[in-house]
Parts: sequence; C-alpha cells; structure tokens
Amino acid sequence: MDFIDLKRQQQVLKDKLDQAIARVLAHGRYINGPEVAELEEKLASFAGAGHAVAVDSGTGALELLLEALGCGSGDAVIVPSFTFAATAEAVASAGATPLFADVDPQTALLDPASVTAVIKQCSTMPDLKLRGIIGVDLFGQPADYTALSALAREYNLFLIEDAAQSIGASDNGSNAGSLAPYAITSFFPAKPLGGYGDGGMVFCNDKKTAREIRSLREHGRGEERLSYTAIGTTARLDTIQAAILLEKLKIFADELEARRRIAARYRELLPEQLLTLQQRDGTLSSWAQFTVCHPQRDKLLEALQQAKIPAAVYYRKPLHVQPVYQKVGRTPLPLPATEKLSKSVFSLPFHPYLQESEQQLIAETLQQALKKMQLQ
Ligand SMILES: *Cc1c(COP(=O)(O)O)cnc(C)c1O
Repeated sequence: MDFIDLKRQQQVLKDKLDQAIARVLAHGRYINGPEVAELEEKLASFAGAGHAVAVDSGTGALELLLEALGCGSGDAVIVPSFTFAATAEAVASAGATPLFADVDPQTALLDPASVTAVIKQCSTMPDLKLRGIIGVDLFGQPADYTALSALAREYNLFLIEDAAQSIGASDNGSNAGSLAPYAITSFFPAKPLGGYGDGGMVFCNDKKTAREIRSLREHGRGEERLSYTAIGTTARLDTIQAAILLEKLKIFADELEARRRIAARYRELLPEQLLTLQQRDGTLSSWAQFTVCHPQRDKLLEALQQAKIPAAVYYRKPLHVQPVYQKVGRTPLPLPATEKLSKSVFSLPFHPYLQESEQQLIAETLQQALKKMQLQ
C-alpha cells in the first residue's frame, strides 16, 4: 500500500500523458509554450479567479506574490505555525518577519480570534509594520476567509490564501484559489492536482499584480524585448508540466468526487476513539490528506507500521518551535492548539484510487491497536 499512490492514476492516464508530452516535443516550445497559457486560462476559470499566472512552484508563487505586494524588510505577516514550512519561509525570504498565530483546535485552520490577538500585540513591536495575513487551507479544507477578510479590511492588510493543498475545494460555492484577493497553489506531485515535477500558480483579481508577477517570473522583463523594469528571477512553469497538468485536470472533477467518497467511507469505518478534524459548515475539502487525532498517536503509528501501512505526521514540529523560525519569526502569544495538534495528529493513506478493502484493513488495524491499548 502507498501513502499516496500516483502509479494508479498514471495507469488511467498513461496514453493521454504520452501524447501530451509528445505534442510538446513536436512543437518544441519548452518555455512559454501554448500549454502554459491554456493551463492558466483553465485554472483561472476553474478557481473563479480573474487571473492565473503559472510559476515554478508553490513556494515561488508565494515569493513572487509577496514581492509584487511590496512586502519586505521591516514588514510583518501573520501566518499559522501549524503549516508546511513554505508559508512562513516565503515571508522570511522576502526579508519580512512571520508572526505565528494559532489554529482552531477542531479544524486545524488559522483561527481568526488568534489572528486578532496577534494584531493587537503588534503595538508592542514598533520595529515592525504589519502588512498582511496568509491563511492556509490545511489538508485541503479552506480556512475562514470571511472572518479573515473582515480583519484584513479593518486593519488595512493584504490577505493571501495558501491553497497549495486545496485546489478543488470550496467554501459555500466559491472555489479555493478565489477565497481571498490573492491566492497560490502548488503542483508538487503529491498535492491534489500534482504534476511530474515542481510547479505552482498565483491567482488574483487585479490585473496589475498579475502583470507584475508575469514580469518577475521572467527576469523582470518589460513590454519590449530584452527591456527590464524590475529585478526578477527565473520562475516559469515548464511547458511539459503544463501539458501534463492539462491532462490531469480533465479527470480532476472525477478524482475530487472519489476523494470525497473515500473520505466519507473513512469516517464510517474508523473507530470512534479516533477524532477526525472537523469540516467547517459549507466547505468541501479537496482532501489533500485524511488526518485523524489521538493522544496516543505514536502507539497507533507503531501498529500501522507493523501492518506495513504507511502513515505520516503533518506536522510533528510546528514552525514556531523550530530554531530557524524562532530566529526569523516571532510568536507573540502561546499557541496551545498548535502544540496539542502537533502531538496528536497523523494522516492515513489517501488518494482517489484507494480501495474499500484497503480502508477496511487500515480501520481494523487501528481498532485492534486501540483495543490492545485499553487492555494495557
Ligand atoms: C506544498 C505547500 C507549499 C509549497 O508548494 P511547493 O510547490 O512545494 O513549493 C506551500 N504551502 C503549503 C501549505 C504547502 O502544503
């Protein structure tokens, strides 16, 4: 059993992928080929965003976006500590300071009450100017952008949706990638819409930011050939990756349906003592991960390992306890939910091709381990 089985998806798509790659080899436009523009158009419309700009990774998307928003040295950006490093890393790479806030203990999503408390603490940090908030759609579920955008408006902050894990998710009918004025996603192979290499996308509604990111991803180029208006970088998405993603996008709606069916089945099969993370009212997750919690997590992980069932812990070490992030970031207030979740969460094998028999085996293994623990 694989934790995320990409081979089964490849079997479904192999011929189409071979043809898509062959088309790129035939036209030879490996950089800025027509597939890149087509993917941008299709994903902008899929997400419901005005503009989509394809870049080299989700991290690159965050970095270019922060640069386009003029975020740099002396600025601060509120981020959850309970996330993949890239969220805070991009803030630090921009020269700004990540301020770590807590998550909701039930959903593991950035908690607007904690964000409010951190905003209030900013008056004790006169060396920093608070500029923005990055919400993270952890494990595929959208954060509460209604509450976060109210805060962003009140305090005049930019709001970014880190939708690296959540493309395909929605909140009351609006799709991930368009839940905040700015958003990014990732095409890392294990993400819900993954390529065969690195890739990412910036989503936004304003034309100016989209134009700036198009320039920055390509050395800061201006309108005329070999003229430059900014110090940019090389951060384009390869044409071959775009071609592969276009084929994967064609089956993505079916895969999302399968993901939701499989998540519902896990909820039926798993023993009650395992708490699943709550889904907010009105949200549909893309189920990047299926995550459960138990105070004796490590014993359960051991039982899974003995049964050769792969499991993973996202995230065992939240960012605010890691020395490198303690150096570049600040944690104005305690983060009790983050600490608690990091000690109890683990994620089970999950992908759109997971079989019911595999889920039954996982559930039985956990059931038996829990029984044994009760007897001890
Ligand atoms: C994966 C991920 C990223 C970064 O994406 P890459 O394409 O790997 O650079 C950023 N934020 C979150 C929450 C992620 O899970």
